[in-house]
Formats: sequence, structure tokens, C-alpha cells
Amino acid sequence: MTIKKILIANRGEIALRIHRAAHEMGIKTVAVHSTADEDAMHVRLADEAICVGPPPATDSYLNIPNIISAAEVSHADAIHPGYGFLSENAKFAEIVEAHGIKWIGPKPEHIRTMGDKVEAKRTAGALGIPLVPGSPGPVENIEDGKRIAEEIGYPVIVKAASGGGGRGMQVVESPDKLESLMSQASNEAKAAFGDPTVYIEKYLGDPRHIEFQVFGDGNGHAVHLGERDCSLQRRHQKVLEEAPSPVISDAQRAEMGTTVAKAMADMAYRGAGTIEFLYENDEFYFIEMNTRLQVEHPVTEMITGIDLVREQIRVADGHPLSFQQEDIQFHGHAVECRINAEDPKNFTPSPGKVTGYHPAGGMHVRVDSGLYHGYVVPPYYDSMIAKLIVYGKNREGCLMRLRRALDEFVIEGMKTTIPLHRELLDDPEFQNGDYTIKWLEEWLAKNAESDET
Ligand code: ADP
Repeated sequence: MTIKKILIANRGEIALRIHRAAHEMGIKTVAVHSTADEDAMHVRLADEAICVGPPPATDSYLNIPNIISAAEVSHADAIHPGYGFLSENAKFAEIVEAHGIKWIGPKPEHIRTMGDKVEAKRTAGALGIPLVPGSPGPVENIEDGKRIAEEIGYPVIVKAASGGGGRGMQVVESPDKLESLMSQASNEAKAAFGDPTVYIEKYLGDPRHIEFQVFGDGNGHAVHLGERDCSLQRRHQKVLEEAPSPVISDAQRAEMGTTVAKAMADMAYRGAGTIEFLYENDEFYFIEMNTRLQVEHPVTEMITGIDLVREQIRVADGHPLSFQQEDIQFHGHAVECRINAEDPKNFTPSPGKVTGYHPAGGMHVRVDSGLYHGYVVPPYYDSMIAKLIVYGKNREGCLMRLRRALDEFVIEGMKTTIPLHRELLDDPEFQNGDYTIKWLEEWLAKNAESDET
């Protein structure tokens, strides 16, 4: 390895995740942190730590000049961005490389292409990935919009080209609503992303969200590591993910996996990526590609035994992939619960001091978290404080173990979503794997009603 020291441009559990992979490879780490994170676990564990600014992320974790300076003064020879923050910022990736620092991520041009959803769809379509029917490019005006919506048929969804986090999206049921909802989506997109460009897609009534993990060496060799089912969402945010999907057959996995791996090979994609699909009536429809490590990557690691962060570091160092497609075998089942510092009923944030902490443990149980007794969860960042990932020989065994793990997981001093996951596990429809992207919101609404009566 030529990489000897990695600067981790992130915080929380993902900063720890990267630190662990690096140390297992004999690589030193540099943590960066805001003034609010001086006592954070990622700062304590790293070999060096550098403060890059005040609490707001725009001034610290997104502060490019300060992060680059931190890499220079610490002589880090690579930067890992984690997820969120600067991970899909093509400009940052370019700046990192221009400073002679290795970027542990995809080529900047691929980050840029996939970050524009219209371009991403065009690229994916050209590479043979099946798309949601919709406008071939941005929708310029209302006449354009009307024509396209008629062609694909209502309901349609108007989406922001620069979108993210489910913002700037409007579902249009009938032609008379198109004009006002299109301008609403466009205004929202302009306000949120500084880009009013929108496009139109067929609105799928009740799909699942299924995504494929891909990995490329940057030289035209790429593999897939199977799918994850992330249909359990609240406000387009994933709550619980599992691999494999309860509804995908081995044949479907092999077929779509081969398609996406070939697409990545053809574009000479480098590093880890995720191809996201909506899935309905046995058909896959591409919605977007994420050019980074995902929050839910551990479920894939559990069923393949492959350390994705280690592989990201190796590929960034110029090594070929350490596995071929035929080396990747899928065993058993894994589920991840995202545990947030939130009220499990109304989801209001609940940051505060950890007055008691006992993480779940035992065979096939993994907890990725920066929590410790006495730690104060700052209010400035994402509310996810831990990920509980559990493996079992099959889905049923995995769910039994998950129930046991949730029962022993103690976080005191704040409200968390542990009780929500615990309740979810007792639902027969969930147990049967019988859910779509709408299911969780309906389940939550039903539970809220029965709480009132
Ligand atoms: P973002 O980047 O904002 O997260 P995505 O394109 O990934 O946007 O879509 C987020 C979520 O919105 C999907 O997981 C799905 O729940 C819903 N969605 C997006 N496109 C469609 C569609 N064509 N039909 C139905 N639901 C959709």
C-alpha cells in the first residue's frame, strides 16, 4: 500500500467505520471535527485530530479549504469522505486530486454525471439499465410537460434534476394539476438546490425500493454484490434495510446484477456505488445512482463477508479488485436498523447526554455507533446515532436474533427509535416480507390512530 495515512472527512459512526478499516490495514487516520464534536468517539480513536470549524456543517464538515489544509498539515495521503457531506461533491474530489491527495471514491466525472439525475438517467439508459418511463431530458416548459405526461399516462411525478432527500418532488394525478405542480416542484428545486430544472417520470403506484451494490476498479472491471431492499421508508428516508430482498429470486439477482456490473465495467467506474431501482410487477426501474458508500452497506458485508471500505481503500491505492464475480457468494440474511435520537412516535429530535449505554452483542450482531456513556449527542447533525446489524442463516433466524438484540440494546438519556423497530418486528406483514415503499407510513398512521383510541 502506498497510502499510509487517511484523513476522514466525516463524523459519527461512518468516521469510525473508516477508521477501523484503515487501522486493520495498518494505515493511520486523521479525524476532522467541528467544535461541537471535540469529545466525539471518531476524534478519540483517530491517530490525529484537527478542528475544522464551528458547529454548523457548512462551516466545518463542508468547509473545503479547512479540510484540505488539515490534510496538508497532517501529511495525509488520501481522503475518505464517508457518505453525505462532501462525498458526492465532484468539485471537492477534483480539488483533492489536484493537491496530489488520493480520493477514496469514484472518478470526479462520474460523480458529476450521476449527481445530475437527468444525465444519470440518460447515461444509465445508454448502458442498458432499465429506466422509469419519462421525459428523455429536462422538461423546458408546460407544453413539453403536458405532451410527455400524456404520452406516458397519468399519474406522473415531477422531480428535480439536482434533487436529493426526496425534495422537489410532486405527484400529478391529472392534467389540470400539471401546470401548478410543475411550477411548485421547480420553485422548490430552485430554493433547495439552486437549480430549477425538473423532469417527468411515470409515477409507480406501489413499488419496492431495491438497490444493487456495485464495485469497479476504474479500469473496466466491475462486479455486483447483490441487492438490498430499502422499501421501509418514512418521508423517503430509509428506516430498516435488508439483504437479500425477500422478493428477489436468485435468477433475478443474477440477471440484474450482471446488467449493472456490465454497465459499470463499460463506464470504467471506480470504487463503490449503488444503483437504485423501484421494483414493481417483477420489473426494475432505475431511479438514481449513488456514487459513494451507503449507510446500509453493512448488510451487504454481512451476507458476502467482504469489507467494502477496505476494498475502497485498495482500489483508491491503484490495486485491482481483490475478488472476481464468481468469488462473491451470498450466505444467509442480514437486517440493519437505523437507530435515531428521535421520539419513536412523532419523530421529533431528541439529542442529549447518554446517561446509560449497553449496546447489543453476541454472535452475528454488529453495532456501528459513536455512542459511549457520558457522550452528549449534539443537536447540529443527522439524528442517526447507531446502526444495529444482525445476521442469520435465513430471514426467520435473522429476525429472531434481531428481536433478541433490540431487547438488550440500552440507550438512556434520550428517546430513540429502538421501540419502533421492536414493534415493527412483531408485525405479521413485515415478518412475511410483505411491504412496499408506502407500507411503513401507513403502518405508522395506523399505530398513531390506535394509540389515540
Ligand atoms: P432523492 O434523490 O430525492 O432521494 P429518488 O429519485 O431517489 O430521490 O427518489 C426517492 C424516493 O421517492 C424513492 O425511494 C421513492 O420512494 C419515491 N419515488 C421516486 N420516483 C418515483 C416514481 N417514479 N414513482 C413512485 N415513487 C417514486
